Amino acid sequence: STGSPAHTRILLKLSGEALLGPDRDFGIDETVIRNYAQEIKRAVDLGAELAIVIGGGNIFRGVQNAMKGMTRAHADYMGMLATMINGMALQDALEQVGLQTRLQSSIKMEEIAEPFIRRRAIRHLEKGRVVIFGSGTGNPYFTTDTAAALRGLEIDAEMILKGTRVNGVFTADPEEDDSAERFVEIHGDEMIRRNLQVMDMTALTLCRESSMPLRIFDMGVKSNLTRIVQGEDIGTRVHW
Ligand code: UDP
Repeated sequence: STGSPAHTRILLKLSGEALLGPDRDFGIDETVIRNYAQEIKRAVDLGAELAIVIGGGNIFRGVQNAMKGMTRAHADYMGMLATMINGMALQDALEQVGLQTRLQSSIKMEEIAEPFIRRRAIRHLEKGRVVIFGSGTGNPYFTTDTAAALRGLEIDAEMILKGTRVNGVFTADPEEDDSAERFVEIHGDEMIRRNLQVMDMTALTLCRESSMPLRIFDMGVKSNLTRIVQGEDIGTRVHW
């Protein structure tokens, strides 16, 4: 491996939807989660401290048809539980590649996860453990993007990386518009002004208040994460 990483402490947001892989409508694709684990292992081996917030869309979607007419808050709590299923799956995948991990939950479930304790999370990171934050923020009406922004700020991450299925911020949805062009970098205020649907406004404004840098990238491309850790300009950098 090469020298010291350009970024030491990173908050990595992984979408639940990306865990679907190419063929699934809901659930977890084994290959995707294994590839993620290997890539995260390489990043840790390079010296990065990694905390992960994982989404729940892949599980949540499979039950949404049964949720018509449900109160928003009730459905959101189900969504937060979905992130715990992914968190536990990711924890297992990470341990299978030899990493030490801790899962912390924003909703108490003491038999399977530690409660979220900021100082404890930081201590785990200092010891080289990968910390997975499950249950989002613990509050309905929020998203896991907002949880990523919040936890990233709390642990004093150098930057928040959002690993998705597209390689950054585009002028339009690249999955629908062929002429869509990728920004190599973009000011966060411009993202807010253009209302680009890459991250929700609550998450973005949280980042803005503390000038937290962000990077949006394709987590489906092997080596992207490690290249970013080594200081390469992958995806889109969002600055303030
Ligand atoms: N959620 C919530 N509060 C949070 C985080 C998540 O209520 O702090 C719920 C919300 O319903 C959300 C769902 O959990 O839709 C799953 O998270 P998200 O959609 O952000 O996951 P992703 O799109 O990344 O798969």
